[in-house]
Amino acid sequence: MAYDFDLYVIGAGSGGVRAARFAAGFGAKVAVAESRYLGGTCVNVGCVPKKLLVYGAHFAEDFEQSSGFGWTPGEAKFDWATLIANKDREINRLNGIYRNLLVSSGVTLHEGHAKIVDPNTVEINGERFTAKNILIATGGWPQIPEIPGHEHAISSNQAFFLKELPKRVLVVGGGYIAVEFAGIFHGLGAETTLLYRGDLFLRGFDGAVRKHLQEELTKRGMDLQFNADIERIEKLADGSLKATLKDGRQLEADCVFYATGRRPMLDNLGLENTGVKLDKKGFVEVDEQYQTAEPSILALGDVIGRVQLTPVALAEGMAVARRLFKPEQYRPVDYKMIPTAVFSLPNIGTVGLSEEEAREAGHDVVIYESRFRPMKLTLTECQERTLMKLVVDGKTDKVLGCHMVGPDAGEIVQGLAIALKAGATKRDFDDTVGVHPTAAEEFVTMRTPVAG
Ligand code: FAD
Ligand code: NDP
Repeated sequence: MAYDFDLYVIGAGSGGVRAARFAAGFGAKVAVAESRYLGGTCVNVGCVPKKLLVYGAHFAEDFEQSSGFGWTPGEAKFDWATLIANKDREINRLNGIYRNLLVSSGVTLHEGHAKIVDPNTVEINGERFTAKNILIATGGWPQIPEIPGHEHAISSNQAFFLKELPKRVLVVGGGYIAVEFAGIFHGLGAETTLLYRGDLFLRGFDGAVRKHLQEELTKRGMDLQFNADIERIEKLADGSLKATLKDGRQLEADCVFYATGRRPMLDNLGLENTGVKLDKKGFVEVDEQYQTAEPSILALGDVIGRVQLTPVALAEGMAVARRLFKPEQYRPVDYKMIPTAVFSLPNIGTVGLSEEEAREAGHDVVIYESRFRPMKLTLTECQERTLMKLVVDGKTDKVLGCHMVGPDAGEIVQGLAIALKAGATKRDFDDTVGVHPTAAEEFVTMRTPVAG
């Protein structure tokens, strides 16, 4: 049977755009459908605008610290509306770039909500298109628990478009988004409380990293409340919000921001018209080659719920394009040693195993750790400290994990990830000459284990 397209991609986000462009580049006839915004979550309501807001929040301490270097800054004033307008302008520019990328690669762009009507047919804007393969790349959506008054809370989707900076914010959650946005709100001057239901936020990260960030955020005056969860939210007559916690305490705020994870975006996608199966958590189930239970349908990115990061969705998009249209170049995505950063203030950068994971896996663990006041702060009042940590296998000498909390941790860990991916040993780290004076050189100068 002749199809309209070789590949019909639903979702022009990180993974969908990558798969569509490369498939078209390999000679396939490709269409991509997008219902909201070109570039998807990352470009519009994720990584990019988030990082711009983090940069914005960082200026507060830059101004403060500059006096130690002889500067007398004028009165610093912050205008949220300017930051948001400039951010929106930049995102519009990126949307245009994504459009050009798709069109210039020969991909047909359909703007609207796509629904699968049978395993080889997609309906969009009242038209039907057939395709040999359909790729579900529809991403995720914020998930707010349905407590009484949840309609008064916002998620990251709305946070990027608030008309003004709230004076008092309650951030709920202890993952990436909660920690990053708490840093943004706090840095920009809002009175910020982070409420997390467990003992310590950032579950899954190295214990020393979690503790260190807790100490640093507390030093900065952020109110961290662990073992705390909201039972209900009420709107008061003056428009502010009252949150009643499960332990009976009540907190007032102008904004309650939930960052309690993301569900797969499958709304009105028509999966009931296919044999596609979902896993226990509701994400689309795929095999190692992103094949769903329906032979003509594939899925990747946040909607399959593996590692919800843009570079992972990109790698999966590349793998799908190759698998379908350039099989001789196909390489499976390697999910080991994925570096990641939390753009909290200060940043976390991490790659490889945490100390806890390494012990759990039975490694003969040796730990190297360094805590120091960054050189840039020595002329200032700021008491922030940086943490660097190496998790090493005592038997093989292989570095299993690198962890950092401090300025530019994300930038530093990217290079370390190459070393770990290449199987670097502690000896290789020791034999590497440092770049002086930098914070990063500490990673090659730690000589004495702190724990074995
Ligand atoms: P998405 O990028 O979500 O794209 C899916 C697209 O499909 C969307 O554009 C959507 O509109 C479209 N769509 C959905 N249903 C349909 C339909 N039926 N028809 C047509 N179109 C449809 N990752 C990082 O690596 N670094 C970060 O710093 C980072 N920061 C983040 C900050 C926030 C606040 C959030 C929410 C996420 C962040 N992420 C970050 C995660 C990253 O954004 C995602 O992992 C990534 O965008 C997933 O890509 P994707 O292609 O799977 O889906
Ligand atoms: P995460 O899964 O990272 O964190 C969710 C948090 O919410 C956890 O602390 C979880 O607690 C808590 N939680 C879950 N359900 C509830 C509930 N019902 N009540 C109270 N608390 C709850 O999700 P995020 O929303 O922060 O981010 C989604 C994903 O997006 C991330 O996992 C990451 O992959 C990606 N991302 C990446 C970024 C980056 O690379 N810098 C930045 C932002 C997002 P518990 O731990 O107890 O389960």
